[in-house]
Amino acid sequence: MTQIAVPLVSPEPPIPEQLTQVQAAGANLVELRVDLIADEDAVRAALAAPRTLPLILTVRSQAEGGAWDGDDAQRVALIESLGLQLPGYVDVELATWERSANLRQKVGLVCDRLDAPSTPGARRKNQLILSLHDLTGTPDDLSAVFDRLEAAPAHVLKAVFTPRDVRDALRVLEQLALRARRRSWIALAMGDAGLITRVLAAKFNALLTFAAQHAAAASAPGQMPLELLLEQYRFRSISAATRVYGVVGWPTAHSLSPLLHNRWMRQAGIDGVYLPLPVSPSYEAFADLMQTVQRFAQLDLHGLSVTIPHKEHALRWLREHGAAISPAAQSAGAVNTLLREAGGAWRGDNTDGAGALHALHAAGCGTLAQRRVLVLGAGGAARGVAAALIAAGAQVTIVNRSADRAADLGAALNCTAGAWEQRAALPADIVINCTSVGMSPEVDQTPLPAAGLRRRPLVLDTVYRPRVTRLLREAQAAGCPIVSGVDMFLAQAALQFQLWHGASPPPGDAAAPGDAEAALRAALDA
Ligand code: NAP
Repeated sequence: MTQIAVPLVSPEPPIPEQLTQVQAAGANLVELRVDLIADEDAVRAALAAPRTLPLILTVRSQAEGGAWDGDDAQRVALIESLGLQLPGYVDVELATWERSANLRQKVGLVCDRLDAPSTPGARRKNQLILSLHDLTGTPDDLSAVFDRLEAAPAHVLKAVFTPRDVRDALRVLEQLALRARRRSWIALAMGDAGLITRVLAAKFNALLTFAAQHAAAASAPGQMPLELLLEQYRFRSISAATRVYGVVGWPTAHSLSPLLHNRWMRQAGIDGVYLPLPVSPSYEAFADLMQTVQRFAQLDLHGLSVTIPHKEHALRWLREHGAAISPAAQSAGAVNTLLREAGGAWRGDNTDGAGALHALHAAGCGTLAQRRVLVLGAGGAARGVAAALIAAGAQVTIVNRSADRAADLGAALNCTAGAWEQRAALPADIVINCTSVGMSPEVDQTPLPAAGLRRRPLVLDTVYRPRVTRLLREAQAAGCPIVSGVDMFLAQAALQFQLWHGASPPPGDAAAPGDAEAALRAALDA
């Protein structure tokens, strides 16, 4: 079973107290980051006290992302004296190990020898972790770096990289998948793009992953709080059989889709995990991601949400690969959902438009046939929403700040394009904001002057951060029925869930602990 190690980075509260807390919270191991704790006496006292968790003793150098700025000789002496108190594991950087005969000798004395059979009944010394932290990138020839570590005489090998985006993190996982059955490995990528390596450590049989006591106590970029790893990502239930889903975008750190889909899967008893997958903005990067996941069969990637700026890239990639594309995605000119079919082929769909229609119907708007709908915006969301409205028989007028984009979309969908400046005067039964105006942090903006609300149209704002935008507030004050972008978001996500899992998400129950929809609304209000 892959363990969870929690680093301690401060002498306060007292270390024995912290050990009790993190053990109760679910940690299997604790890393004493002596360089960050910066209180050798506190560490020494903690090592002398009785304890029930194995410890990793680490005095990380600045060169590899730590805070130790003393010389090697002092560090070796410190590791030796603390190591004699038998924490369980001693972590030393491979670079230091290779350059310092003194360190090899002293650390060798406090660690079990790999080549010596253990004598029955003999007290075990420590296990040696040799580690490598690349703070600048992820080398192209990752295999050579892993080979170098694998040749080292350690019980555990640890490799940590800085990814450009999730593609590098996936390459790290590919190496882990190849090697973790024959040696004990820890292989991670840092930052938001590395989140997948922290969660899927359990799928690929790593010795351990790291999680922080809380957000402010992370010892490395991208290290998530233990609670998030256990609750949202259900780390304890991840195994080799767990299916992987995720959201591809740039950035993805603020996406609420992981919260929603992971909770729905938990409620439905599905063995799957949904992860943020940030991919650099170019088409080439997107195509490279798809090539990587095709090659990496053990990843078991079964479905993707696609968001800005990759919706058009996904459509292009599917076309270039002769893959199936739904009519909704064809007419929207964008794909927001990818699913892998039984034979391994990818299929593209778009649930944005259907999600908007679903939210309108749920709000009691009745038939859309012959209804006059004013769509503000001509970007990806507008395309999907307008195409679905037209398919439902609505009379759509598109207006956009950049008039040429409105004209192009009107021509592509065979509907009217109006002037942005005239938007408040255009007659409409329904107004749908598909611009990003009013989105956090610019919450005091609105895409529609108050005059546009005088005739009391129904107003749907696709923006869902904040949950109630200025447009919705003003519409409500003017007596208009309103529909929140959260309802559209939930509806389009539910359609994705249906496509991937063949069933609707479990019904929401706001009173039930862990209810996905209630958690989403709470996260938006936080
Ligand atoms: P996009 O492709 O980048 O399009 C952005 C649109 O907003 C364009 O029409 C753009 O006009 C317009 N715009 C941006 N700043 C503006 C300003 N200051 N004044 C006037 N117009 C402005 O983005 P998208 O994918 O369509 O997303 C748009 C919004 O829809 C986002 O807020 C997104 O969160 C939301 N959305 C919600 C859901 C949901 O489920 N609720 C689903 C998808 C999208 P120009 O062409 O002139 O630049």
